[in-house]
Amino acid sequence: MQTRLKTETISPPRTWAEINLSALKHNLSFVRQHSEQQVMAVLKAGAYGHGIEQIAKALDSEHLAYFGVASVIEARKLKNAKIQTPIYLLGPTFPEERQEIVEQRWVASISTLEEAQHFNSLNRGCEKLVVHITFDTGMGRGGFLPSALHSAIDQIQALPNLHLAGIGSHLPSADEDREFTLRQFSQFESAVSNCKLEYLHLSNSAGLLDYQSKVTNLVRPGLMLYGISPIARYQELLQPVMQLKSRVSLVRTLPAGHGISYGRETILKQDTRVATIGAGYGDGLPRALSGNNAEVLIRGKRCPLLGRVTMDQIMVDVSKLPVCEPGDEVELFGKQILVSEIAKKARMIPWEVLTGITPRVTRIYQ
Ligand SMILES: *Cc1c(COP(=O)(O)O)cnc(C)c1O
Repeated sequence: MQTRLKTETISPPRTWAEINLSALKHNLSFVRQHSEQQVMAVLKAGAYGHGIEQIAKALDSEHLAYFGVASVIEARKLKNAKIQTPIYLLGPTFPEERQEIVEQRWVASISTLEEAQHFNSLNRGCEKLVVHITFDTGMGRGGFLPSALHSAIDQIQALPNLHLAGIGSHLPSADEDREFTLRQFSQFESAVSNCKLEYLHLSNSAGLLDYQSKVTNLVRPGLMLYGISPIARYQELLQPVMQLKSRVSLVRTLPAGHGISYGRETILKQDTRVATIGAGYGDGLPRALSGNNAEVLIRGKRCPLLGRVTMDQIMVDVSKLPVCEPGDEVELFGKQILVSEIAKKARMIPWEVLTGITPRVTRIYQ
């Protein structure tokens, strides 16, 4: 028994994610310096794969207005981690979730009058429940349409057990369509500028990086907190929080004509030093990288991926390295190879790659 435990503890992970919490703090201070507004840190989807409890703990003393989450399940994780920052639910709620939301004083973003009325009746006899309204200026995912907004505000403000503390909208193409986004800003600003509410909010990362508003006073960054900019020219001001790493498990020289990986799409043109690495799509390394000139970093040098990504392993060409040995550390993405590069080669987006890192990948906090 003793020996068995010992073996387990010394067995190193094949693939792990190093999460740099000082980079996270750096990115938050950049958000504050750049936007000068209050901040809702978006922690949905396990803090974009970084680990919701750990990221929330690291940010809990930062006087943030809210932590934004996608669901009651995520909100519960924050509650169980004894987080003090108010919790904001970014999407519509189901009727059967609302009793718990009222009890926990989580902040809902209201899209319909029925939802508001239900919260109002569940909160009878208690201190007013803080809610926000979602305003649909073009995302098409939730909220009141412009024609319904003012009547919704009036009716929700008339409900005795609710306190309307804010109005938020969302930008579908702040990193793609400037003209449309500018129109959204002016529509939002003219619709809400006379509302005397604590919070008016519109911007995600791309919005806060690239647009200014005299009306909003809260921003909702997600991706950029994790050190990745949706707009390339701001990337150098941020520090990637996650580095996905693995190690070489085997190095062999394979002869010209030998096939590599499933489907044998890669046939070696010459004798090649091939390293096998213990990471695959089972860890969240996109299988779509196969055949798209992806590289990994070993001993400071980029080494090309050979053949298809398999579930637990990949093969790379290490012929250019003077030395490469089993146990060598491999950067799959991080500081030298940005997750944005990986995403682009896999025809994905960085949000998708980060949230796709699977549970078996050990997160190591630094
Ligand atoms: C996910 C999300 C954000 C954060 O978006 P990023 O592009 O990651 O900064 C902000 N607001 C809402 C409503 C969201 O759903």
